[in-house]
This record gives sequence, C-alpha cells and structure tokens, in this order.
Amino acid sequence: MTTKNTYSNADIAHIDRTAVWHGFTQMAHYEPLVIERGEGNWLFDIEGRRLLDGASSLWCNLHGHNHPTINAAIRDQLGKIAHVTSLGMIGRTAVELTGRLVDVTPEGLNHVFYSSDGSSSVEAALKMAFQYWQQRENPQPQKTKYVAMGAAYHGDTTGGVSLGGVEHFHSLFGPLLFDVLRGPCPDTYRLPENVTPETACDHYFETFRELVTGQHQQIAAVVMEPLVQGAAGMIMHPEGFLRRVRDLTQELDILLICDEVATGFGRTGKMFACQHEQVSPDLMCIAKGLTGGYLPMAATLASDAIWNAFLGDLDQNKQFFHGHTYSGNPMAAAAGLASLDVFEEEQVLENLPAKIDHLQRCLQPLASHRHVGSIRQRGLMVGIELVEEKASKQPFPAGQTRGARVCRYALDRGVWIRPLGDVIVLMPPLSIQADEIETLVEAVRYGISQEFPGE
Ligand SMILES: *Cc1c(COP(=O)(O)O)cnc(C)c1O
Repeated sequence: MTTKNTYSNADIAHIDRTAVWHGFTQMAHYEPLVIERGEGNWLFDIEGRRLLDGASSLWCNLHGHNHPTINAAIRDQLGKIAHVTSLGMIGRTAVELTGRLVDVTPEGLNHVFYSSDGSSSVEAALKMAFQYWQQRENPQPQKTKYVAMGAAYHGDTTGGVSLGGVEHFHSLFGPLLFDVLRGPCPDTYRLPENVTPETACDHYFETFRELVTGQHQQIAAVVMEPLVQGAAGMIMHPEGFLRRVRDLTQELDILLICDEVATGFGRTGKMFACQHEQVSPDLMCIAKGLTGGYLPMAATLASDAIWNAFLGDLDQNKQFFHGHTYSGNPMAAAAGLASLDVFEEEQVLENLPAKIDHLQRCLQPLASHRHVGSIRQRGLMVGIELVEEKASKQPFPAGQTRGARVCRYALDRGVWIRPLGDVIVLMPPLSIQADEIETLVEAVRYGISQEFPGE
C-alpha cells in the first residue's frame, strides 16, 4: 500500500504551516503557498492558481520552468547514473560542465571546485585563499584577514555570515563569527554627506584604499559582490568601483574573491557581472543560476596561481582540505550543461538588451509615486525602494512591512514577488517575454496603489 497523494489540500496547508520550517520566515505569520508545477515563467499552486514567477524561484531560474532541453538532459542523465562521488573519481558530465564553465567565465579562471549551494562556494573560496597563503611558493602565513563590503551578503553558513554586513543577520550570531575588516557599502542611492553621484566612486574607493593600505600584509582576500549587492536590497555600485578594487588588490598582493552567486549567468546583461568592467578575480563563486535553477549546485573557480599552490608531492599535504559529498553531482551537472546550451540555442544574452530596456520603460512611471524613493536596475535585477519621505529618503518604520504588503497585493494580480524589507525585488527569469514584463510591473503598480490609496 502506498500513502502517495492521500493528503488533501487542507492537510498540505496544515503540514506546511506547522511542520515545514521555512528559512527567513516568521512561521507564526506564514500563509501557505504550495506550488504543484511550473510551466515557462509561470507557477501553478495546488489550488490551480497561476502566478508569474517574478523572482525566478529566488533568483535561480533562468530559462523558465519545465524547459524541454533541460528536462531532457536530466532525464537522459538519470538513465545513466544519478550520483558519482568526486573524491578520487568523477562523473563524465561534471567534467564536460567544467570545460564549458572555464570557457564562459572571465579569463584565467581555469579550475572548478564544486559544492551544492552559494554559501558553500563562498566557504570554499575563503579556505582556498587561506590555505593558498600558507603554502604557496614564498608563503605569507600572516595573511589571514578578510575584507568585506558594508551590507555584504555571502550566505548563511558561519563563514558567510562573518563576511556579511546585513546588520540583523550579523549581530545575532556575533559570538560565533570571525572578525573581518569592513569596507564601505558603495551605495549610489544613499550617499554620504557631501558626496555626489559624480564623486561617489572616488569617495568609496578612497575609503576602501585607506582601509587596506597599511595592513595589506595581513589581508588574505577581499570578498565582494560585483556591481550589485542583491540581498542588501539591490544596492548598485558606482561604475568603475570593481575595476579599481581589482587594480588595488593586484598592486597590494591581495586576492580578490568575487561572489557572483546572484549576479552570474546573465542577470546583469552580461554572462558575469565582472565582465562589465573587464575584471578577472582570483576566485569566483557561482551558484543560483548555474543549473538554470533546476538542481542545487555551486562552484568556486580559481586561477592558475591558486591551483598551482596546491600541487605537490603526496607527503607535502598540499591538497585542498575541504570537500562535499554531492560535489559535481551528475544530474546537476547535466542541468548546468543544458542551461549553457539554452543560452546558445535561444540567444539568451543577445535577447536581453531589448528586455532590459522594456522593463526600464515600464518601470519609469512608478518613479513619480511619492513613496517610491528609488528604482534601481541592472539588467534584469531591479529594486524598487519604498520610503516614507522621498526627499530625506526616510524609510518606513520596519514593523509596517510595506514591502511585504505590496508583494501580497501583487499575488492578487497573479504575480509572485518577494521583497527585501521595503525594497520590492524584481528578478524575473531571463526568458520573460514583453507582455509578461508588463504584467509584472502592472502588479507592482497595483500593489503600491492598494497600499497607499489616494496617493
Ligand atoms: C544567495 C546568495 C548566496 C548564498 O547562496 P545559497 O545558495 O543560498 O547558500 C551567497 N552570495 C550571494 C551574493 C547570494 O545572493
């Protein structure tokens, strides 16, 4: 006898509310939303309701759900083998994916270490950087400190939270964390006094330079999200900041770790955000979009210099002392390969500029609303910040949960989006079509008009 499908929808909602523990969610207030299936850019819940996936199932899905190419690749792989360890061996599919990743990522990142989620890819990068300085030719074992930006987000494992500068995540776990040197938050919306958009890059870079210069001999690596700090609320960096950070880290012999977990795979309009400023970091973390949003997989890419420092004789113990059970899983690798195929077959990057422009044009009318403080967009990453008062950029009191309320209204218009505080986040699949962009923005407009009636 099977117990399959014996739960009613009411049972499902009850179990979801009382037994499933959702991340970053106040379970006392949680309203079940249970998805049965997906098709293209749409989700269907157990009640049959159709919802536009305005957040790409949390920034992962690139080409839509139930995509025939990716489905077929996963099925084909399943018919061969579902899992192979990467300790001492590997599945063929992961090797193929490695070749392709080396090709599509910035120049010089020729080595790929697999893990299963973004946080783990950051942990691996931190430990690689640390071990690198201990054992490279001309070792610098005193280089043990990390620099992270203000309001940074690099995942929820202990190393990631140590780097993180989103205050309420960070302070709670303070006693568990290691110290980092905190750089500026290169925010182009909330500028420090006497800083203008024209001087913002100089200002933030100078602050950064002062921080690292002098103690650079102790610094193992600078870790940053290139161009856009997603989880902080779509904070957009001034143009040129990344390039200058790269140049300085090179000059001072500090490693640069770019966390492209959110920005990677076309999100910002190029395959990787680093490519907007012709930057090749020493280490790069990728995850969310790596499998097109189908299966969990992450990777840390490394330069030749880092890789070479881990080569040696068996008795030297130079191998990387870190590894995950499901590293290089063949099913996830098959999805990753198929996603890269879809990029080519559907000319995904080539089609992005028109979509990015259309989204920008659709959003423009919202800017005049008295509670829309800022509309920030880079590619298909958008933050619409709601503020109490526009001129002073005064936020609403946090307890008013304005962002969540607007997103709740959008649901009534058949659009699923998820805010970051009072920043409404739009992160649609790269496969979104013009009419769906209009539906998405219209739902936000409706949500804002419902939340602020008569304004
Ligand atoms: C989401 C995210 C992470 C964490 O990835 P997980 O897969 O959730 O562990 C790390 N860095 C950035 C920039 C992210 O957006």
